[in-house]
This record gives sequence, structure tokens and C-alpha cells, in this order.
Amino acid sequence: MKYFATSMMCVDYFDLANQIKIIEKHTDYYHIDIMDAHFVPNLALSFDFIKQLRKHTTKPIDAHLMMTNPVDYLDLLIEMKVDFISFHPQTIEKNVFQIINKLKANNIKFGIVLSPFADIEAIKYYQEHVDKVTVMTVEPGFAGQSVIKEAIGKIKQVKDYRSLNQLNFLIEVDGSNNFSTFSDYYKFGADIFILGSTLFKEKDLDKQYQKIKEFIGNIND
Ligand code: MG
Repeated sequence: MKYFATSMMCVDYFDLANQIKIIEKHTDYYHIDIMDAHFVPNLALSFDFIKQLRKHTTKPIDAHLMMTNPVDYLDLLIEMKVDFISFHPQTIEKNVFQIINKLKANNIKFGIVLSPFADIEAIKYYQEHVDKVTVMTVEPGFAGQSVIKEAIGKIKQVKDYRSLNQLNFLIEVDGSNNFSTFSDYYKFGADIFILGSTLFKEKDLDKQYQKIKEFIGNIND
């Protein structure tokens, strides 16, 4: 399957009311990057942003937590009714099973995000609980970076790992989703494409969504 997530850190904040109507029409997921300027060298969207967004959509919201102590904010995110919470494995190693139990009890999907240096083996002790694995093809922290070629191959590794271990998680690619990478990402195993700069760089968002969807729709299996 081919799904689209929209990276809300790339929206035009001064045109948000208009953009959200178009995003709502096209996107399968809302991707919310939360950065604490500590785990990554940038600050980005906040929990309050999610709280506001939740009032405008019933579509799935995915909180990608790029922060040192994500566990401290679980209750807050549960209260906000997010659908997915996606963690970097090194930030949850002290209490991963507690986190999984809490998410499952609240019907929230458990996502894992692999930075370019992170290994798929990181998930091996809890792999059957993972609902989505996100492969980052740029270093976490900033939108609009160019792709790290070495990281693209990991999409395939993750796909092979999934079939080898008979797992069911979705595979998502975060970073540099554009017209020169879509085909490789799809062929290597991406189920979900996170659209950021490539989508929002065009003024006519509706047209750009259509163009991207048509392009990806035409990639053969
Ligand atoms: Mg992200």
C-alpha cells in the first residue's frame, strides 16, 4: 500500500487555516515532529499544537518524539488522543515494556524511528509489539535536508527483517521524500511517505498533492 503522512513542521503557519483544509482532503496521517533542542539541535512543534490540531481532524495523528525523556509526556499525549507515538529506541530503553503496555491499554500505536546510524536490531526484544518502523534518511532535527544515500538501503533491510521475522509493522520513510527518491523508497519497501518540503514548496498545495500522488501511483511494483 501507499500512504501519505504530512509533516506539519513544514506548513505555512500564517496560512494554516487554509492549508489544513487541503491537507485534510489528501493526507492519510498527520506527522508531528516534536523536538526538544536537546536530543536534536532544534526546537519544533509542541504538545499544544497537537491539542489544537486534534480539534480539526479525526485522521490519525502521529507524534514523532525527538526528545530526551519522552516517557514523561506519555500521559499528556494519551489525553490528546494521538493515534501513534513514534520513539527513537535509545530514548525508551529503560522502560520500553511499560511504555508498550500503556500505549496498548489506550489503543495507541507504537512506532519506532531509526536514525541513519540506528540498527533495525534495536527492536528485536519487542519487535512483535511494533506497529510502524520509520527509517530516517536524514539526520533528525531539520526539514529540507538532502538524502543520506547510505540510509536508503536500510529501508530494504527493514523490509527483509519484517518478512524474515513474520512481522506486520508498516514501514515509513522520514526525510527527503521528493521526485528523485520516491521510486527507490517505494521499491525498497516504503508503505508511508512523509511529505514535507517537497509538498509545501509549491504555493498550490492541492495541485502538488495531486502531482505527488499521481507520480507515486505510477511507480510499478
Ligand atoms: Mg519526523
